[in-house]
Amino acid sequence: AKAAGRRQWCHYRPALQAGLVERHELNENLDSAIAEAAFHLYYQPIVDLRTGDLVAFEALVRWPHDRRGMVLPDEFIALAEESGQIVPLGAWVLERAAEEAAVWHAASSAARAAAGLPPLRVNVNVSARQFRDAGFVDVVRHALDSSGIDPRTLVLELTESVLMRRDDRLRADMDTLGDLGIGLAIDDFGTGYSSLSYLREFPISLLKIDKSFIDGLGLSPQQHALVEGITRIADTLGVQVIAEGIEHPDQRDLLAAMGCPLGQGYLFAHPMDGPRARALVRRATYE
Ligand code: C2E
Ligand code: CA
Ligand code: CA
Ligand code: CA
Repeated sequence: AKAAGRRQWCHYRPALQAGLVERHELNENLDSAIAEAAFHLYYQPIVDLRTGDLVAFEALVRWPHDRRGMVLPDEFIALAEESGQIVPLGAWVLERAAEEAAVWHAASSAARAAAGLPPLRVNVNVSARQFRDAGFVDVVRHALDSSGIDPRTLVLELTESVLMRRDDRLRADMDTLGDLGIGLAIDDFGTGYSSLSYLREFPISLLKIDKSFIDGLGLSPQQHALVEGITRIADTLGVQVIAEGIEHPDQRDLLAAMGCPLGQGYLFAHPMDGPRARALVRRATYE
């Protein structure tokens, strides 16, 4: 319950207030959904703020449920973390996202290269519990092998809670993942136990500035200075910044003016299902 506004709180309430019976039911449903791979991935574009080029998609999980409709991750990820179900669910997400990226690459890499653009990346969220699981690195290797995608097109989004525990195991795993060639991003930067020293200590290549900071752009000079400062420092360290939750053109313009390279938000596109993402890949490439 970080600096969440009222609206977000309302959004969380159904899961938090769910009674024991309902929670139990949700858990069992989650089990069978995992067994049947009954989830969907949606994809939200990440764009170059200067040119508007599509550079990546973030994969976001959805759970179509008989009675509840399309359940959003805020209602089941926390539950899946508590129970450990996030481990098989997260493995499924990684495999599926990598497979989907292989389809985008087949459709667009040649034309993108001709236009001077690198292949599309896919960003995948990884929770702390999932990351700490002993089999995690192998899951990543398997997703790369079975999809055949270039490791440089896979980005793992880690929250600061993953990096907080600075033990040898974490350090070794981060190095192994970095050596595989995949990208590592710090997600929701600024909301947790933010430390710029993570950028120095780990092979981080991307940093996502949380929406709560973007909301204040143009309204608060302090907020503006903070975002600009983070962008500068990151740039100096060779880390690319992605601004999250851009909803207004003036936010985009301010960010572009301060040199923030990448952005994501409803201004550009909402998360979309697989077929729509594929259609966008083709359009963004051949138009
Ligand atoms: P996140 O990683 O910070 O993802 C961004 C969330 O912000 C997404 O919500 C996205 O739909 C929403 N968003 C994007 N642009 C805007 C905007 O302009 N305005 C507003 N108000 N919202 C915007 P979503 O899809 O409901 O996901 C919520 C969270 O659930 C994610 O936050 C992430 O922490 C978690 N999550 C989603 N998929 C996965 C997954 O496969 N694995 C894990 N471990 N966590 C996931
Ligand atoms: Ca994310
Ligand atoms: Ca985020
Ligand atoms: Ca978030």
